[in-house]
Amino acid sequence: EPAMSCSRLRPARSRAAARAVVVTAVAMVAAATVAAPSPLFLPRESRVPGGVAILDLGDGETAPGTVVFNGYRTPVLRSPDGWVALVGIPLDAEPGLQTASWQPPGSEEQRRLEFSVVAKQYAEQRLKVANRRHVEPSSEDLERIAEERKRIDAALGTYPAERQPVFALQAPVAGRRSSSFGLRRYFNDQPRNPHSGMDIAAPTGTPILSPAPGVVTDTGDYFFNGNTVFVDHGQGVVTMYCHLSRIDVKPGDEVDTGTPLGLVGATGRVTGPHLHWGVAVNRALVDPALF
Ligand code: ZN
Repeated sequence: EPAMSCSRLRPARSRAAARAVVVTAVAMVAAATVAAPSPLFLPRESRVPGGVAILDLGDGETAPGTVVFNGYRTPVLRSPDGWVALVGIPLDAEPGLQTASWQPPGSEEQRRLEFSVVAKQYAEQRLKVANRRHVEPSSEDLERIAEERKRIDAALGTYPAERQPVFALQAPVAGRRSSSFGLRRYFNDQPRNPHSGMDIAAPTGTPILSPAPGVVTDTGDYFFNGNTVFVDHGQGVVTMYCHLSRIDVKPGDEVDTGTPLGLVGATGRVTGPHLHWGVAVNRALVDPALF
């Protein structure tokens, strides 16, 4: 569902700050050859519904154990400043104090990791769709939707611990990236779930490229999402690509940054051709712009 009217521009970073980042990155590349693999990039932190929290797990020599939020394991990674848990905050999270639980290795006790989530008022979006069933599904459609929800949950909820996610995600298609994440949506004047991804306007047939290494875990034709591809990047980081006109991968395929996944289309509930791009962390769909 394109919402291309209100792109927000990020303030330009100062030259000096940019230089400091480069220097740090170079230092980390040198360190990475002797220490555990270090991601050089973390998502932008935003402790709001639909954002991510980065929680400190100390700077021990060895991996700090597991962290669970909302019943799902979060990524745990070595940042330049030490170990961190990256927590995806669902769009329906309550503002206020939230708690993740941290289990250090060999320890019976669960430690509480508390953080505050600040409310965010996302804008409203009103869309007209021609296919009435996409707004008022039949009972048969509802059965199909319920089955698909289980399958989507399974695809978004995987956790291959051995696969190290990369967080500097490339844009999967060239095109205008909208700030459409989180919009409170009305289809034909009826309130529906908030928009849980980023829409990128591009013509039907535009190639969609994987933004990072991963493995394709599921593909299919879904009632709302149309032709869809799920890519698992490791440790609870999963991306999804919706409304495709053609799927070019199958479950089990290993993909790299830039591997073609399929073509932009207008399948499912859409008002025109575009890519809907979803990014999930510990099963929570969060704002792809943070990555
Ligand atoms: Zn969308």
